[in-house]
Amino acid sequence: MRIDAERSSEFNRRFGIRFEDGARVEAVLYRGDTLCISTQVGCSVGCPFCASGAQGLARSLKLPELVGQITCVRERGYEVKRVTLSGVGEPLLNPACVEFVHACRAERVPPSVTTSGGSAELLRRWLHLPHNGLTLSVHAGEESTRARLVPGAPNLATLFDVLQEHLPKLSRSRRKKVALAYLLLAGENDSDEELDAFAERALPLAFDVQLYSQNAVAHSGLRSPEEPRLDAIKRRLEATGLHVRRSSKARREANGGCGTLLALGPGDSRKQ
Ligand code: SF4
Repeated sequence: MRIDAERSSEFNRRFGIRFEDGARVEAVLYRGDTLCISTQVGCSVGCPFCASGAQGLARSLKLPELVGQITCVRERGYEVKRVTLSGVGEPLLNPACVEFVHACRAERVPPSVTTSGGSAELLRRWLHLPHNGLTLSVHAGEESTRARLVPGAPNLATLFDVLQEHLPKLSRSRRKKVALAYLLLAGENDSDEELDAFAERALPLAFDVQLYSQNAVAHSGLRSPEEPRLDAIKRRLEATGLHVRRSSKARREANGGCGTLLALGPGDSRKQ
C-alpha cells in the first residue's frame, strides 16, 4: 500500500491511500498529530449527507491496512500521536478494528472511534473496549428522522437501550469518554420538536454532545442551518442541562472535514 496523493490546508493534511488490489481510501492528519483513518472501502450505512458511503461498500480493510495508514503517514515524516477511526466506513462493522484498538493501545497511540452504532451486540462490545473515546452519531430525536438520515444503523430505541444498560457498568472516567454527535441539517433534524426529543433521550445519561455542521459534498444538497440558528440550537440544548460543543474548524474544512472522504473500490477507474 502507498500514499498516492497529499493535500494540505490550514488545519488538515489529507492523504490518498492506495491498496494492493487497487482500492483506495483517504486519511486525514488533523492539527498535525491526530490521524483519522478509514476502516472500510466505502460504507453500507448510506447516510445521505456523506460522500464516503455514496457508492456503497466494496470491502472492509484488513488489520495491516489499518495499521499501514499510520505507517505510511509516519514514513512521510509526520508525527502521529493519536488515531481516530472516523474516516471512510463504519468501524464497528469491520472485525479487524477490534484488533486494531488493542494494537494501538500496545503501541501507546490512543485510539478513538466514531460510529453510527453497528448493531446492539457490537455497540455493547465496543463500549467496553480500551478505546480513548467513542462518539455515537445520532443525528435525530425521532425514529423516522433517524431512519432517513442514518438508514443502515440501529434505531434510537436500540442505541439508547444499550447505553442505559451498559454506561452504568463503566467507571466514571470511561463514561466520560462516550459522547453523542448530532449533525444539524436544515429542514431535516433542526426543528425544536426534534431537538427536544433528542435532549429527552440524552439527558438522563448526561452525555457530552458534539454539534456538527454539514460539509458540502457533490452528491448531496443537504446543508446545515445558518450560523444564528446553529448558535440558537446550541443554547437550546445547553438550557436542558446537556454539555454541548460545536465541531472544530478542522472538522469543518473542505479538505478532509467530516463526511468528505472518498473511497474507490478495486477496479473503479474514476479519478479523485
Ligand atoms: S457518515 Fe459514517 S456511517 Fe454514514 S455513510 Fe458516512 S462513513 Fe458510513
